[in-house]
Amino acid sequence: MDGDRIEATVTRQKAAVAERRLRFGLEERKGALAHLRQTIERRERDIVEALRRDFGKPEPEVILTEILPVLQEIRHTMRHLKRWMRERRVAPTLATLGTSARIRPEPRGLCLIIAPWNYPFNLALGPLVSALAAGNSAVVKPSEMTPATSQVIADIIEETFPPDLVAVVQGGREVSQQLLDQPFDHIFFTGSPEVGKIVMAAAARHLSSVTLELGGKSPTIVGPGADLDKAARWIAFGKFVNAGQTCIAPDHVFVHRSIEARFSEALRAAIRHAYGADPQASRDYARIVNAHHAERLRGLLQDATDKGARISFGGEAEGTYLAPTLIEAITPQMDIDREEIFGPVLPIMAYDGLDEVINRINARPKPLALYIFEKDAAFAEEIVARTSSGGVGVNLTTMHYSHAGLPFGGVNNSGIGAAHGYFGFQAFSHVKPILKERWSAVPMLFPPYRP
Ligand code: NAD
Repeated sequence: MDGDRIEATVTRQKAAVAERRLRFGLEERKGALAHLRQTIERRERDIVEALRRDFGKPEPEVILTEILPVLQEIRHTMRHLKRWMRERRVAPTLATLGTSARIRPEPRGLCLIIAPWNYPFNLALGPLVSALAAGNSAVVKPSEMTPATSQVIADIIEETFPPDLVAVVQGGREVSQQLLDQPFDHIFFTGSPEVGKIVMAAAARHLSSVTLELGGKSPTIVGPGADLDKAARWIAFGKFVNAGQTCIAPDHVFVHRSIEARFSEALRAAIRHAYGADPQASRDYARIVNAHHAERLRGLLQDATDKGARISFGGEAEGTYLAPTLIEAITPQMDIDREEIFGPVLPIMAYDGLDEVINRINARPKPLALYIFEKDAAFAEEIVARTSSGGVGVNLTTMHYSHAGLPFGGVNNSGIGAAHGYFGFQAFSHVKPILKERWSAVPMLFPPYRP
């Protein structure tokens, strides 16, 4: 789409925002969400097929990680929206005696949703559910890296909504930047911290508010008292689902030296159990999104092994296939120790004392997720209390994403603001205080002042 058409789309939507404030109430919003749910259900086969074409995503993973989360978001939102939209009364303070106070959530107006490629359906439509629930209009920009899924998203939205309520603009970086030139009221961006900074700088030009859902290196700590089989199964799932292309995947694992060998064995067994002896032949294992990213991951492995790291499991690569891979003897000189891996490669690092791990985590940008495996609750609590991360999982991975009642988001480098359920509704709302005079004594204090 060229710049003029983008401007025309935004202008048309802006024009409709003021009028929609009056007629986009609870029933209309629920109606829009129900309509979206119907179209998604009707288009389920097309969504599955598009994700298979884009990166060989297994059908159960499409259902579990792309379609169900959006349907769950719709269900949860429709169930609670009336309460979320309700105006809240606030008791007067001493200084405001004689007034009545209320807080009303109002739509921000016109919102831009920019989505990444790794869960391209879920991360474009999930935020749209919250945007509509809060009464906004939206422009959705899906990722150019998953063209088949972007087209299905465009078809679904076109079939479901009038273009002055929701529009899809497809395209890459330039289109994204043209969109960012427009005066949106709110920008909800999901993607890398690098592009997140570009988005925030662009938003500053119009002082648009932002929600930034970013990434980073999410550490996982396996304590000396962990249930090793359980830890291995959860870590293998969190790391290798979607072939490691998950923002909240464990990026690397710190394992207590006393259990290192037993944990490594349990992890290999968990990988073999999930994907068989030859993961390339497994129908349950996805591919890397494109040749560029496959090459990037091979480069990370090459750099690490050139500098002394050892691949202890997997490592086979062919085209966009990269086997579930475990790598050891990582040092800070290696790129894999600095960059978000975002692929099926898991560094395992032995540690002796918890201070060493905590100091390492605190010396780096705050991660999106942090996982702890340990039966001793005090061990987990110490890590939670002494570190900062977007979210924490104890004795599990990735599931905190799926709890509709929890805020999902990062902190600083891993994100600003939160999504999901009520927190998503809040992200797309301005909370407006309204104070009404009843019998306030404050006018007695107006000038002329008396001693
Ligand atoms: P990305 O930042 O490269 O791209 C995201 C979106 O931004 C795409 O739609 C793209 O077209 C657009 N974009 C790219 N470059 C741009 C530029 N210079 N100016 C304006 N727009 C631009 O991210 P990605 O590679 O699609 O996704 C991977 C990243 O996203 C990882 O860092 C991952 O951790 C993160 N992520 C975070 C979450 C979360 O919920 N926090 C979820 C998924 C992915």
